[in-house]
Amino acid sequence: MITVLSGGTGTPKLLQGIKEIVDPSDLTIIVNTLENDYFAGVYVSADIDTVLYTMTDMINDETWYGVKGDTFTTHERLEELSCPELLRIGDIDRATKIQKTLLMQKHSLQESVDIQAGHMGITSKIIPMSNENSEIKIITDVGELDFHDFLIKHQSQPEVLDVVFSEVSPSEGIIDAIRNSDAVIIGPSNPITSILPILSLKGVKDALKETPVIAVSPIIGNNSVSGPAAKFMKAMGIEVSSIGVAKLYEDFLDVIVIDNQDNDLEDTLGEIINKVIITNTIMNTLDTKIDLAKNILEGIL
Ligand code: GDP
Repeated sequence: MITVLSGGTGTPKLLQGIKEIVDPSDLTIIVNTLENDYFAGVYVSADIDTVLYTMTDMINDETWYGVKGDTFTTHERLEELSCPELLRIGDIDRATKIQKTLLMQKHSLQESVDIQAGHMGITSKIIPMSNENSEIKIITDVGELDFHDFLIKHQSQPEVLDVVFSEVSPSEGIIDAIRNSDAVIIGPSNPITSILPILSLKGVKDALKETPVIAVSPIIGNNSVSGPAAKFMKAMGIEVSSIGVAKLYEDFLDVIVIDNQDNDLEDTLGEIINKVIITNTIMNTLDTKIDLAKNILEGIL
């Protein structure tokens, strides 16, 4: 069994490669839920839906949000009715979100995701990191912003001073999944807003210490491959480099995978983490995703 810790862009890219070489029924994917909230009347668990769509090859893997080829009739009609949505939700994507919202009237988030994954024919176990509601605030030079306001309304432009999020309980099964895994893969997701929330859950770090763990750095050079990870790391006083990532995970990390472009970091990283793998980590084709997945599995199993 392999467990993967995931956000909604970098790790799903890697999952596209992993699922080609690992039987999906041998995969558990623990997904960040920190940014989950209601928008336009539906429950939006963006990272979970991205993982659902990734595992069924429905994902729009240009934007890493929503369904490939989706239409936006409802979104546009809401705009015509002077009821604009902050999130641009596609019609097929909205059906997933409506179903989850309805299921959650009677079920926990985990149960709702299990039901949806079953309908979609997904055999991997997808575990939302928590069933509880949470909150994340980005403290910026223009004030305290909700995560999606920062990302969409403000286009990640404001200077970030701090990132704060609520403490939630881990959903059932996370600790056992980690403990019973042959290896845990921390995908190249945003260390602050996707991975740290999972690591902050009670018992997770202790369980990771007892399991072989490999992480792929989402940072190349001194910047993130995409998104605001670099801004968030800087605001939290963490060096924006694979060294900063390594220091964040050093308590439990056995192997770190960094990009060829960072080969000058090998010695310094070797002092922090047992094993350093240097390879191409830019996943722009299915082949690069599969190659990276192979390197990861060879490096940790
Ligand atoms: P979010 O939930 O949409 O914020 O997405 P994630 O947290 O899963 O992923 C965002 C991170 O993925 C960013 O920090 C990027 O640097 C990283 N990322 C995206 N694509 C790649 C890639 O091809 N290679 C690597 N190494 N990192 C990537």
